[in-house]
Amino acid sequence: MTTTPVSPQALAINGGSPVRATFLPYGRQSVDEADIQAVVDVLRSDWLTTGPKVAEFEEAFAARVGAAHAVSFSSGTAALHAAAFAAGLKSGDEAITTPLTFAATANCVLYQGATPVFADIRGDTLTLDPEQVENKISPRTRAILPVDYAGHPVDLMPILEIARRHKLVVIEDACHALGAEYGGRPLGSIADMTVFSFHPVKHITTGEGGMVATNDAKFAETLRRFRNHGISSDARQRQSAGQWHYEMVLLGFNYRLPDIVCALGIQQLKRLDANLARRREIAAHYTAAFREIPAVIPPAVRPEANPAWHLYPIRLDLEKLTVDRAEVFRALRAENIGVNVHYIPVHLHPYYRERFGYKGGEFPVAEDAYGRLISLPMFHGMSDQDVDDAVQAVSKIAEHFRR
Ligand SMILES: *Cc1c(COP(=O)(O)O)cnc(C)c1O
Repeated sequence: MTTTPVSPQALAINGGSPVRATFLPYGRQSVDEADIQAVVDVLRSDWLTTGPKVAEFEEAFAARVGAAHAVSFSSGTAALHAAAFAAGLKSGDEAITTPLTFAATANCVLYQGATPVFADIRGDTLTLDPEQVENKISPRTRAILPVDYAGHPVDLMPILEIARRHKLVVIEDACHALGAEYGGRPLGSIADMTVFSFHPVKHITTGEGGMVATNDAKFAETLRRFRNHGISSDARQRQSAGQWHYEMVLLGFNYRLPDIVCALGIQQLKRLDANLARRREIAAHYTAAFREIPAVIPPAVRPEANPAWHLYPIRLDLEKLTVDRAEVFRALRAENIGVNVHYIPVHLHPYYRERFGYKGGEFPVAEDAYGRLISLPMFHGMSDQDVDDAVQAVSKIAEHFRR
């Protein structure tokens, strides 16, 4: 019997050997011994939740992002819900957001009984296009929810200007962008409310968790009540009326982040700058390598932005390839490179199609990007070898399918 020899450059989907033997995920947390010890210490203490670690985490976080207040939540999604509530979103209102995001950004508008209205994105950074936002303003508009896609800050100045003119609240979904800067200022210090997530693939993690940063004391108070059943926790009021007394003043939820994981957050926050530095190093390495590969379009960076690189999404120049994105994706997975796609545009999900009648074609820039995007592995714990493996796999596959 004869077997056809497989060249070392053969793609793994065609029976060649993969670029690496083990699977490289697209994102991953880093937890060290000090993190573990901090959690254990809380487990041995009196306060598993509603204790001193909550305020300690919030204060350290607010200081890091340059905000007057930071309010923690059990997830980034809960934080978005609370921000939508604090902004006063209610039935009959509209909020403008991007289709190229995780569904939670738009869902939080629906939680409040309001309607998400999508506006198309810019072709370079894939963040909300301020001109498209302006076109979607109606008498019902109450808020704008821009997203710092992949960690690149949205162009906040024109969006804040539109919001001021129309008396709208800006809730910035910065779940990709902890540590990013816009015009030299940290995200969290600029919009009316800025939302962060501590899911394990993000810049720091508490397992699940989220935060809203704001400079507005009134928003901060409402956010604190909303995450605690709507109970006002004014200690002075309690003191004067007796120890048992508390008042529920609005319909809230239990969205609290326990001390157990706030302790983890405090530890993780200390490494944020190191995590950001590593992510920026990896991005620079990728971008330099992909300048040599014509079919690969690396993510754009605008001059006013210092991105946080939650993701590293390349776009394929499909005109230069013989196959589509799906085939390149499959080929990369076969090489053991854990690529992903961020995102299926929100309006194309069955729930949104059925409820709002979207058919595709409404947001051409977002939909075109979706057809080309592939997120490469990007996390602060990646080794140089991991980065090289991802580059080598992309290069091998782009060469193989070159038109
Ligand atoms: C991660 C993320 C969220 C929040 O997700 P949680 O898992 O609830 O913390 C919201 N929006 C975007 C864009 C995200 O990436």
